Amino acid sequence: MWKALALAPATTGLAFESAQCRPSKQKNRQSSLLHKHLARAFHTEPSQLSTLRRILHLDVDAFLASVEQSLHPELRGRPVIVGGPPTGRNLVMSCSYESRPFGVRPGIPLAMAARLCPQGIFRNGDSQAANRLREELTRLLFEFTPLVEVASIDDFFLDLSGTERLLGPAFDVAARIRESVLARLALPLTVGIGSNRLVARIAGKLGKPGGIAEIRAGYEETLFTGLPVRELPGVGHSIGRQLERFAIRTVGDLRQVSREVLFASFGRNGLSLYDRARGIDDTPVEVTSTLLPDGSLVSRPPRSIQRISTFEPEEGRRELVEAMLVYLVERASFRLRQNRLAASSVETRLVYVDTRTYGERKQAVDEGLSITRRRRLPAPSDSTDELRELARSLLRQMPRRRALVKRVGVTLNGLVVREGWQGLLFSETGGDREDERGGSHADRHRHLDNVVDELRERLGFGRLLSGTSLELTETHPLTRDGFRLRTPSLNQ
Ligand SMILES: [Mg+2]
Repeated sequence: MWKALALAPATTGLAFESAQCRPSKQKNRQSSLLHKHLARAFHTEPSQLSTLRRILHLDVDAFLASVEQSLHPELRGRPVIVGGPPTGRNLVMSCSYESRPFGVRPGIPLAMAARLCPQGIFRNGDSQAANRLREELTRLLFEFTPLVEVASIDDFFLDLSGTERLLGPAFDVAARIRESVLARLALPLTVGIGSNRLVARIAGKLGKPGGIAEIRAGYEETLFTGLPVRELPGVGHSIGRQLERFAIRTVGDLRQVSREVLFASFGRNGLSLYDRARGIDDTPVEVTSTLLPDGSLVSRPPRSIQRISTFEPEEGRRELVEAMLVYLVERASFRLRQNRLAASSVETRLVYVDTRTYGERKQAVDEGLSITRRRRLPAPSDSTDELRELARSLLRQMPRRRALVKRVGVTLNGLVVREGWQGLLFSETGGDREDERGGSHADRHRHLDNVVDELRERLGFGRLLSGTSLELTETHPLTRDGFRLRTPSLNQ
């Protein structure tokens, strides 16, 4: 099934093997730009000496669609579209590569996908199976190295630095990993290899779908020069737009801008842009879980917990926006307690629909359509009640715009390990202090959280909802696992 297109000699700075059987025609504009640029870099001399770090970036192609194909072999090789029935108003969450020639892409409406690809097979997607497969994949990666970082639901970083004598060249290890994942889990994988996480990620974009691409050490800067600036990780929509306003289109253009100017324009993000434009990224691969001798996988506690949801169609009713926020806080705080953590601060984010004209947008100097408010709690807390009230009051303080709401989200930051004695204190001394109302306000909420958590673990999150979030039943389908959101944060 895998077909090697080209394996460039070591001196060109790029090793490339692709599973793509229809080379240039099927590629979208972005990746053809990438390929054109990288092909040019083939004959460039190295500009710096090699470093010894070898980082792999692994990405499952069309993850949720591939999960369906893995579970149901009869769907393999067919255009699978995940998001729900084609009659629904939802968007395509994931679609197999067999559907892409028809023009189907993640993010387009399902109805449009059905028009473009009438033979498409529409599925709801199975997030539980997805999580299970991700865990099996993580376990498989531990057979190669203990330095595994689970970066999101479907992408991973591996640090193979210094393992060449033991395991062979990184490129060969990547090929073995890809083969094992396909054989044992029936999931297609793209692998990017580079001297750091950033370079590995860029290489991965080149290898998509199903290929392996390696940017050899010493060639990073040269290979980055003609890269469209938006391909650089960390350049989101807003930074990308601002850069383009200054006619900065490629990474080479970006390299012409001084550190001072970038700092003045983008703050700390600007400084990291300066480094990234040069292929510099010192962030280590962070081991996110450990495999115990008994074969169980233990995840490292998260640094922050974020829950975001997009409204589709956009929402104008403030009470529904608030209901969604409350629901997201409930989910985030459930996860917080599962990890025995408490949050030090809460951040609420609101994104309005952009209704401005192009001219207005160019002149805008305010914080624009995305508003963020963050506040510390008096003391770290894991109480749904406390976190919800803070998130809500942050939302209420935000300026109101005459526009529909596109997205709302909450992030719990500054996570610390929950002090274990608090629960003990409650159960031991609680008896003395308890009156007919059942203890202090905080104690009663703590008790309620524990009961609700236990029931949700047993029955499913969606079986128990607060009064406020119940309002969402009007706009969102409710399942055993909770509301089906437009942008489910599967990774957390
Ligand atoms: Mg993926």
